Amino acid sequence: MGLPVLHGIAELRRQIGQWREAGDGVGLVPTMGALHAGHLALVRAALGQHPRAVVSIFVNPTQFGPGEDFELYPRQPEADAALLADAGVSALYLPRVEEMYPDGFATQIQVGGPISQVLDAVHRPGHFTAVATVVCKLLMQALPDSAYFGEKDYQQLQLVRRMARDLDLPVAIRAVPTVREADGLALSSRNDYLSDAERATAAMLPRILQDAAVQIGAGAAVDPVLASARARLQRAGIGAIDYLELCDATSLLALRRADRPCRLLAAVRVGRTRLIDNFAVESR
Ligand code: AMP
Repeated sequence: MGLPVLHGIAELRRQIGQWREAGDGVGLVPTMGALHAGHLALVRAALGQHPRAVVSIFVNPTQFGPGEDFELYPRQPEADAALLADAGVSALYLPRVEEMYPDGFATQIQVGGPISQVLDAVHRPGHFTAVATVVCKLLMQALPDSAYFGEKDYQQLQLVRRMARDLDLPVAIRAVPTVREADGLALSSRNDYLSDAERATAAMLPRILQDAAVQIGAGAAVDPVLASARARLQRAGIGAIDYLELCDATSLLALRRADRPCRLLAAVRVGRTRLIDNFAVESR
C-alpha cells in the first residue's frame, strides 16, 4: 500500500481519529515541500516520539510578499511523496487552497512583541502574521500531540512557540537542529536557485556566522565582532546583508552584550536568492 494522501480537513481528522482510537499518538511536520534532509530530520524526530507522523505540504500563498518567489517556489509532489513513504511517514496532507482560505476568509493571527517587529519581520512585512495564521490552522486541523519545526527558521520557531503558548494550543512545539551540507550551508529548498558560483559564495555565510558566534561566546565585544563579520561577508561577495544581529534567544530583542541565552541571526542575498541562517552563542 502506498502512502495515504489526504486532501481535506474532514479526511485528515477521520484518519487521525482512527489512530487515536487505536491509542497512537501523532506528530505533525508542516512544510512547503521540495523536501530535503532537513525536513526528513523533522520526520525522524516525529517518528521517534510518536507512532504516527503526518507531513503537510502547503505552499502558503499569503506568506509570500509581492515580488517574492511564490510562483518560482519548487513544487515536486511525486518526489516528495516517495521520500516520505521511504521515511515511514503515516500520511501526507496536501490541503487545498480553497479550503484553507474559503471565500470571506477574514481572520489573522498576529503575534505581538519583538518577535514580530525585528529581523525578518522588518524585511518581510506581513510574513509572520501569515505564517502564524496558517500554522495555527494546520495545528487546529490536525490537533497532533506534537508539531516539529526547524531551528533553521529560528524566528518562525520562536513565533510559533509564543503563539501556541498564548493561545493555549494543546500541541507540544518541538525544535529540531539545523541540518547542513558538508560545507556548512543550511539545507533549504531555496538553495536550488543558486548557480554554482553563488553556491560557493553561499557557503561563506555559515562559516562567518559561526566564527562570530564562537568569538562572542568566548567573551569578545559584540559590536566589533558583528562589524568584522559584515566586512568578511562583503569581501566574500555577500554585499546585500538584510541583517546580522545578536538577539535574545527567546524574545529576539537585539543585544549588545551576550549576557543571557542568545543567538546570532543573519539574512543575506546571494544573487537573487535570499538566505537565512543562525547559530547559538555558547558561553565558555
Ligand atoms: P519549509 O518547507 O522551508 O517551510 O520548512 C518546513 C520546516 O522544515 C520548517 O520548520 C523549517 O524550519 C524546517 N527546515 C527547513 N530546512 C531545514 C534544515 N536545513 N534543517 C532543519 N530544519 C529545516
